[in-house]
Amino acid sequence: MSERKRVEWDNLLPMSEVAQQGSGRERAWLRMATGESANSRSTPAGRDVEYDLIVLGSGAGGMTAALVSAIEGMRTLLIEKTDQVGGTTAYSSGTVWIPNNAQQRQLGVADDSEAALEYLDALVGERAERRLREAFIAAGPAMLDYLAMHTDVGFRVYRQQPDYRQELPGATLGGRPLEPLPFDGRTLAGGFEHVRWPIPELMLFGGMMVTRGEAARLLRIGRTLDAFWLGAKLVSRFALDRLRYRRGTRLVLGNALAARLYKNLLDRRVTVWLSAKTTRLIVEQGRVVGLVAEQDGSEVRVRTSRGIALAGGGFPASPALRERYLPKPVASHTSACLSCVGDTLLMAQEIGASLGPPGEDNSLWFPSSIATRKDGSTAVYPHIVLDRGKPGLVAVNAAGRRFVNEAVSYHEFTRAMYRSHREVSSIPTWLVCDRLFIWKYGLGMIRPLTPTLRGYVRRGYLKLADSVGELARTIGVDTVGLMETIRAHNEYARTGVDTQFGKGGNAYDRASGDAAHLPNPCVGPIARAPFCAVAVFPTPLGTSLGLLTDEHAQVLDRAGWPIPGLYACGNDMHSIFGGEYPGAGAELGLAMTFGYLAARHAAGVDRTANSAVIGMQGDHAK
Ligand SMILES: Cc1cc2nc3c(=O)[nH]c(=O)nc-3n(C[C@H](O)[C@H](O)[C@H](O)COP(=O)(O)OP(=O)(O)OC[C@H]3O[C@@H](n4cnc5c(N)ncnc54)[C@H](O)[C@@H]3O)c2cc1C
Repeated sequence: MSERKRVEWDNLLPMSEVAQQGSGRERAWLRMATGESANSRSTPAGRDVEYDLIVLGSGAGGMTAALVSAIEGMRTLLIEKTDQVGGTTAYSSGTVWIPNNAQQRQLGVADDSEAALEYLDALVGERAERRLREAFIAAGPAMLDYLAMHTDVGFRVYRQQPDYRQELPGATLGGRPLEPLPFDGRTLAGGFEHVRWPIPELMLFGGMMVTRGEAARLLRIGRTLDAFWLGAKLVSRFALDRLRYRRGTRLVLGNALAARLYKNLLDRRVTVWLSAKTTRLIVEQGRVVGLVAEQDGSEVRVRTSRGIALAGGGFPASPALRERYLPKPVASHTSACLSCVGDTLLMAQEIGASLGPPGEDNSLWFPSSIATRKDGSTAVYPHIVLDRGKPGLVAVNAAGRRFVNEAVSYHEFTRAMYRSHREVSSIPTWLVCDRLFIWKYGLGMIRPLTPTLRGYVRRGYLKLADSVGELARTIGVDTVGLMETIRAHNEYARTGVDTQFGKGGNAYDRASGDAAHLPNPCVGPIARAPFCAVAVFPTPLGTSLGLLTDEHAQVLDRAGWPIPGLYACGNDMHSIFGGEYPGAGAELGLAMTFGYLAARHAAGVDRTANSAVIGMQGDHAK
């Protein structure tokens, strides 16, 4: 095995195995730490292992912090508590929202920091500190440029991906969101097995990934040569992959982002510990100087000279914290990674860190449909953009009435469910359409062109009826209400104007509609039996309540002072958008930007006021 490969493998192994295969001082210490010595718990052993920066959590936030740390020359340790890297990032679409990025400028897509700030000011207002969004707007493009200069972590811009709140000043029609470049999982060799799989329902054939653009092209299969060739290329690569791997190795979306960040960490010989549980942070004279972790029942201590960055992904998967902080009725499921349960937040609070002020709902939302998989596990399918905005679908509450423009962002849609629920039962909300709609666009887990719906009906996922009245009775909503709703909706389909909620009335709506459908790409008739319905529930895609930080991602104590040596990024950091969702990629854009800022600050770079960085960006933009 080549020297390079051997190092990668050392990095990949869980701590106990590294102890047997690592080298030098670290190997000796780890042997002790994993129980081969009676001294494993002693502080002297802990002093033997010291890193400059320790990062907890291997999502986009944590891996960006670790990567930047390594690039800045710091000895870096990444600790992931599960046996897989990627967290919710690996499940995600991987879009990052970075206003005024260099690719936009190169393509001539208009944007500037002032417009972005105007947009965020209008959206966030007093709900979060302005200097934090200023720091984000300044540092986001710098973070992308920095990664482009030092790594192969790359993105391409979505030219037409409108910001979510088109009615606000400073909103753009595209350019701010970027998608990750595809990644070849084979280049990770054995490390590929350690990359978290995507959500199964978001892959084809149980293991093949496609981008949103590719999915749209594939829908024309049988009609265009382009779709045929694309299908043939993707499927033949997948078939070859399956001879050697458990899933396809052509990674796209968030899985590509996670895997690529991971590959860069391994290439830079960053030490990665998997399956290691941190139990507490060590503070000396007011400064965070290390941590205690457990693995296989052994306790290990690690010291740090520059600090610890918390990037555990918030608490979307903690039933107890959901109960405490999320609105009622409390979400029972999440499409986020199940290991994001807020233990990093609790550890930080134990040493005096402060959570941000609770907001409207402390969460960012997907409306999701729920089903039981064949193996008995629960599938939580996020209705992001593929069905709600298409023509021929309404969302109704128990009164059979619409209460929202179905094409709004997933976050706003779910918030509307909660608001409506105060007056009339709206959880679950029913997405109602006809069979033709499902054939053309799909509905949740049911893909377009699905020949038979029997299996979905049998498992209770889909409700089907021969008339609107019968469907209302089947799903338990008011019959008259639903019939009147469909009648009114079909009239909007004819005129092209949804006088009730304005569906299809702005660029964001229309981007998720069907451009070929006229007069309104988002409003079409629900006319031909059988009629269909799927229930959707509020599910957190991430949490917005987190640790209060300053603009360098330093965690603040209860008096508002930075805790020396403690940083937070990603969903462990309190939302600088005050719980609002400005556009596609806003979560990952923040996670990576503040991961970058945390590592740069720990390394002693960029310690000056961010106004200096803002000035630089402004010049850059000209
Ligand atoms: C289906 C889906 C699609 C999405 N698409 C997008 C999108 O396109 N763009 C966007 O901006 N957002 C998207 N999101 C949201 C986004 O993915 C998350 O907000 C983001 O991944 C959070 O990143 P993070 O770095 O904070 O944490 P994560 O990516 O969740 O990673 C956290 C990691 O920390 C680990 N961890 C937890 N506690 C500890 C501990 N104590 N010690 C060590 N490790 C620990 C976890 O196991 C996990 O691996 C999507 C979410 C979902 C569910």
